[in-house]
Amino acid sequence: MTEQAQPKVNMEKIVSLCQRRGFIFPSSEIYGGLSSCWDYGPLGVELKRNIKQAWWRAVVQERDDMVGLDASILMHPQTWEASGHLEGFADPLVECKNCHLRWRGDDLNNETCPSCGGELTEPRMFNLMFKTFMGPVEEEASVVYLRPETAQGMFVNFQNVLNTTRKRLPFGIAQIGKAFRNEITTGNFIFRSREFEQMEIEYFVKPDTDKEWFDYWLEERFNWYVKLGIKKDNIKLRQHMKRELAHYAKECYDIDYLFPMGWAELEGVANRSDFDLTQHTKHSGKTLSYFDEESKEHITPYIIEPSAGVDRSALAFLCDAYDEDIAEGEPRAVLRFHPDLAPIKVAILPLSRKEKLATPAKQIYADLRQCWMTGYDEAQSIGRRYRRQDEIGTPFSVTIDFQSLEDEQVTIRERDSMNQIRVPIKELKTTLAAKLSGEDLFVLPPGGKVWKVEKEESSS
Ligand code: ATP
Repeated sequence: MTEQAQPKVNMEKIVSLCQRRGFIFPSSEIYGGLSSCWDYGPLGVELKRNIKQAWWRAVVQERDDMVGLDASILMHPQTWEASGHLEGFADPLVECKNCHLRWRGDDLNNETCPSCGGELTEPRMFNLMFKTFMGPVEEEASVVYLRPETAQGMFVNFQNVLNTTRKRLPFGIAQIGKAFRNEITTGNFIFRSREFEQMEIEYFVKPDTDKEWFDYWLEERFNWYVKLGIKKDNIKLRQHMKRELAHYAKECYDIDYLFPMGWAELEGVANRSDFDLTQHTKHSGKTLSYFDEESKEHITPYIIEPSAGVDRSALAFLCDAYDEDIAEGEPRAVLRFHPDLAPIKVAILPLSRKEKLATPAKQIYADLRQCWMTGYDEAQSIGRRYRRQDEIGTPFSVTIDFQSLEDEQVTIRERDSMNQIRVPIKELKTTLAAKLSGEDLFVLPPGGKVWKVEKEESSS
């Protein structure tokens, strides 16, 4: 992979598809929209849910060294003093319009970003946290903040989790939730917004094992994206240079994706050392430590933090899945989502609206809905309906035709290859389950047959 790699799709196409098909809308659109806030429509909410579910499954459900947490968005204000987020409240800051690093305006000798040479914003008193008031009186004593990251909820609950789960090091806490940042420079659709969702892991380790676990999580997280279909050419690791490192970080890598506007951070993996537990111990007066049975000592664990964005993942999966090819002599747009991420897994398409076909089709629809998000579409020609499903990334369509009434068989059409097989209705559910977990289309159930081969096995 070289720096010259070109993104395959432009942002306008993705934004337009998302709006047209109901993935993502501007927030409060009827009032002209709210800058950098977005609403996920009927398909977007399914995509997002699937991303979160795939993450939770990989990092919590399938592991015995991880547990989940759902901390509140509003936290005690001292949290943000301890974390360092309140620092700089009274400082004039400038932000680089290119790489978004922030600098103390009074520290800079020249007009450009010391990191990348990009143009800087005007200096202003700035804190990225949204402020609000708790209780009826809007006075300073009641100020609270909307959390700018989910991480702190996991640090302050370290002892609670340790005491209640009796986990031994190394172990981790995982959390998915909303975070808010009053970003100076936003844009690029859902890439950088002021309200977004994070999927974060805080993995607690013995201090002298931090490097080994850092490398482990970097690989693990990189592979998660690849397993879910992100092309290897479009994803890479980027190490933070010393001057880029956050105040808490000993080492940090970004997992970067080749977005339409270029390479940019999808997830950050940081070695936060013992900074967080030490800071919260200092500020709360409560000990946050771990008794090591081996050394018979209390230690402050180091923390490895893989921190991902749900919205940036959604954008990356959308861009990576987007493709255009020719179907039956006409251009088609197709989202080649991994089946685990596809908003709708199966679409039921009766060949005609006539009751004779609609009745059994609806029966199949009702049956499959128990297992998966299933679509039903009887409007317009079958070709148009296939195109509609392709454009939203539905992996399989099931067609019920007049012959189905006689032979009790239906056709399954695969989105990517457009190949079709014919299977007995009573085998449909198990066949689809197998195909959705990756079985080749042409592995046939008893009584099944290859129906239509659209083209030689597609290369993608
Ligand atoms: P950036 O440098 O792009 O602003 P960051 O380094 O500040 O990102 P982190 O604090 O490491 O981001 O947050 C972890 C993850 O949360 C990011 O990798 C990203 O996926 C997501 N994220 C952070 N800020 C935003 C935002 N404003 N909008 C959408 N997602 C975000």
